This record gives sequence, structure tokens and C-alpha cells, in this order.
Amino acid sequence: MARILVIEDEQDLQNVLAYNLRAAGHEVVAALRGQEGLRLARARRPEVVLLDLMLPDLPGTEVCKALKADPALRDVPVVMLTAKGEEVDRVVGFELGADDYVVKPFSVRELILRIQAVLRRAHPQPETVPTFAFGCLRVDAAAHRVWVEGDEVELTALEFRLLLTLYERRDRVQSRATLLDVVWGIEADITTRTVDTHVKRLREKLRAAGAYVETVRGVGYRFAGSPDEEGR
Ligand code: CA
Repeated sequence: MARILVIEDEQDLQNVLAYNLRAAGHEVVAALRGQEGLRLARARRPEVVLLDLMLPDLPGTEVCKALKADPALRDVPVVMLTAKGEEVDRVVGFELGADDYVVKPFSVRELILRIQAVLRRAHPQPETVPTFAFGCLRVDAAAHRVWVEGDEVELTALEFRLLLTLYERRDRVQSRATLLDVVWGIEADITTRTVDTHVKRLREKLRAAGAYVETVRGVGYRFAGSPDEEGR
């Protein structure tokens, strides 16, 4: 689900696009003119722009150029809607920083797939670690299970999240404030002392593997970069 700005002067086509994009779960903001589209882009901060090349007031290439020149909008993917025979403009569109294009008449299904692809490229998913072994620690993240030296350890959902967060960022110090933000989310009634309490409990539960969670004095915590550097 994304907010999509459609800049298309053919009202029928705009309606079809808006209808289908909404049906696919997206939020649609629509403009019939280039200037209006630019104004809406600045006001509504879309996550994708569908941009017709032939607009009555301003060519799509100029709209694209203006979007890419705006620091607040330059990372917003632009998908150009072009007509057959606009090969030259199509190339120009890419030179201007357009992220993809579809040639009219296009299937709406194809367009939606293209939009999903540019969204994925624009917002890559963080790397996830479904299962891993680290020294005497073994974790199955999908199943929420943890073993130390072959024995299963029961962790609360929060302790599990804390362990995964530290592991995913291993070898890098995480401040208490960062851990609060990532593991707990922002809540008013918890303090950085909460982090210390939970790390202490997590370490105790992890027994031998608890040594992988190191205290960095005055800063926060760090998961060891490799299992054999404990006590260094
Ligand atoms: Ca047009």
C-alpha cells in the first residue's frame, strides 16, 4: 500500500488508473496537468509518481526534471506513461531520472506489478536472519526458538526481539536509546534502565551465550562480531 500520484490528462485513463490502484490497496492522488501534479507532489509526498509524457501545460519530461531537482522528491520513483512512437522521449525520460515506463495501451495489471517493483527497489527490506548459529547459540527466528549448547531456552517476545536486534547489528555498539527505539518502540513510561534490566535477564537466560552480549561502558551494548572473541 502506497500513496501514488497520477499525473494524466486523459480523464478516462486517470479514472481507470485511480480505480484499479485503489482496488489494489493504494491511496491515489490525481492531477490532470503538470503544474498541478508538481504542486500535489510537494503537498502530498507520494511514494510513486505515474507521469504521462504528453501533458497540455508542461511536458512530462519537464515535470520529471522538476521532481528530480527537488531534494524532498528526488528519491520518489517516477513511472512514465508513454504512447507508442515516443521512443525518443522515452530515452529522455530515463535520462531525466525516470525509474520505469509503460507504453500505452498497457494492462493495468502490468502497471501495478511495475509499481510494486519500483517500490521494492526504493524501499529495500532490511536483511532478515531466519535461522542462525553463532558459537553455542542457535536461533530459529521464524519459529521464535532459541537453543544454547543444544538446550532450548525460553525467551519472552521482548527478549527475543532484543536478541535479534543485537545480533542483526552485531559488532556495532547499540546505545540504550537506539535499543529502546527499535525494540520497545517509543513509549513514555520506560527509561534506559529498562534496557539494562532486560539485557541482564537476557544474558542470564542465554547462560554461556550471554557472553556474546557485551557491555560497552558509557555507551550501550554490542553483540560480539565472532563467537570466539568473548573476554577479549
Ligand atoms: Ca496525455
